[in-house]
Amino acid sequence: MKPRIAFFDMASCEGCQLAILDCEDVFLHILDLVDIVEFREALSEKAPRFDVAFIEGSINREIDAERLRDIRARCTWLVSLGACACHGNVQARSNALSPAENLQRVYGPEACHVAQTDSQYWPLWAHTRVRAVHEVVKVDYHLRGCPVDRDEFLHLVKRLVAGSLPRFARQPVCVECKHNGNECVFEHGDTCMGQITWGGCDAICINGGYRCDGCRGLLPGVNLDSHRALLRERGLSDTDIDSRYRLFCSADVQPRGTRP
Ligand code: SF4
Ligand code: SF4
Ligand code: SF4
Repeated sequence: MKPRIAFFDMASCEGCQLAILDCEDVFLHILDLVDIVEFREALSEKAPRFDVAFIEGSINREIDAERLRDIRARCTWLVSLGACACHGNVQARSNALSPAENLQRVYGPEACHVAQTDSQYWPLWAHTRVRAVHEVVKVDYHLRGCPVDRDEFLHLVKRLVAGSLPRFARQPVCVECKHNGNECVFEHGDTCMGQITWGGCDAICINGGYRCDGCRGLLPGVNLDSHRALLRERGLSDTDIDSRYRLFCSADVQPRGTRP
């Protein structure tokens, strides 16, 4: 029997699922290897059990956490798909503010006041906190990036089918950037997150003439103090630096318990 794989979305833009669907040139080959049994973007079928569950999106509400625990109980391998699932992504920035502050910033003071007097709606909002998938259930593999890299996705599927361990980059983006012969953006006055960010994307943004903003998340063990000092030298304020660090991975860098 072919392994059965399923895709689920939580709080996300669904761009990672689209990136997977964009593998259309190799999709028929994938279907030779696996059965896709649930994938809302492409199928209406539902499945009670599956071998691999891909989870896209962050976990924001308790009902999402319950759904995730149920999915975990029905699969063998669980994979976090993309920056939202791996480390909260931009929506995790809201964890730094209280529920009322978030509501007010998005909808204005009047709507905030109305919402706070709604006894059905307000408790849901008040308990919203953005979590990465691994903060709720055990995660077997992380597919990083915003969106995920299709080659890494294909590599993981093939390895799981073959029963062997997938191999992912454990080096900063800088290694791939230098390998590609790019001139470092620090040389001409810009700043970059490449030194502290998980590689594996082939430094695609720098190859294209931009900088790395860190969408693949913080590499474990990096020296953030040293990186911060470098950014300060280039004229960034601590507020700017915190904002850069939190752009994609608030759940990694923001101390827990900061939300009132
Ligand atoms: S990681 Fe990026 S592309 Fe993927 S779902 Fe989240 S916001 Fe969309
Ligand atoms: S441009 Fe960024 S990724 Fe490339 S070498 Fe410089 S700091 Fe590293
Ligand atoms: S270069 Fe940086 S921002 Fe661009 S895809 Fe790679 S990790 Fe993400």
